[in-house]
Amino acid sequence: MSITHEIMSIEQRLDIIKDRLNDSGGKSATKLIAVSKQQPDDRISQALAAGVTVFGENRVQEAQTRWGETFAAHHGKLELHLIGPLQSNKAAQACALFDVIHTLDRSSLAKALAKHRDQGHDLPKLFVQVNTGEEEQKSGVLPRDLSVFLKSMDEGFGLTVAGLMCIPPLDEAPSAHFMLLRQLARDHGLAELSMGMSGDYETAAKLGATYVRVGSALFGPRP
Ligand SMILES: *Cc1c(COP(=O)(O)O)cnc(C)c1O
Repeated sequence: MSITHEIMSIEQRLDIIKDRLNDSGGKSATKLIAVSKQQPDDRISQALAAGVTVFGENRVQEAQTRWGETFAAHHGKLELHLIGPLQSNKAAQACALFDVIHTLDRSSLAKALAKHRDQGHDLPKLFVQVNTGEEEQKSGVLPRDLSVFLKSMDEGFGLTVAGLMCIPPLDEAPSAHFMLLRQLARDHGLAELSMGMSGDYETAAKLGATYVRVGSALFGPRP
């Protein structure tokens, strides 16, 4: 990141990111999720002042403090995305807070979500996380297991899945993973693709991302 980039305001960085998304030649409908995890409150305030309304968080508790308490006055006007792992025992809390969950990856979580729905609640929009790099330490459904998993979401739990999400391995070119995710989504008739972060959001947009998840390129490095 250049020095000039460092001293730019969040508003200026937002303009640059939006321009790059528009210029990427991909889907004009690529939406930006501002990943606010671990960022200090004054940067969140700047993003809100710049007109950002779509935020991403990776921890339920941290998000609850930020969007349920500190910035609670804004909550109803925002679209909040959970992009980190979700424990089944926090499913109800997450559903109350978030509009979209990107990390559905196992039956126990599906069961908790279905139970919450059966108690009369609306569910957030759901993405299935796919472990495209087949990394042992990473969560997500393996590509070869995806068909069976999606079938069980539908037939076993009555859950509607909107799309797929991936986090490519750090040491590999992301484009192959984005193309794999896009192909898997096509194969299963899913419209939404959550892929691309600060280092590769333009590539992801070119390859059909409907959501990119950008943190440090917008807010600056996490302290
Ligand atoms: C932190 C995080 C991001 C944003 O990362 P940056 O590199 O700061 O843009 C995107 N997606 C997920 C799942 C994350 O945990």
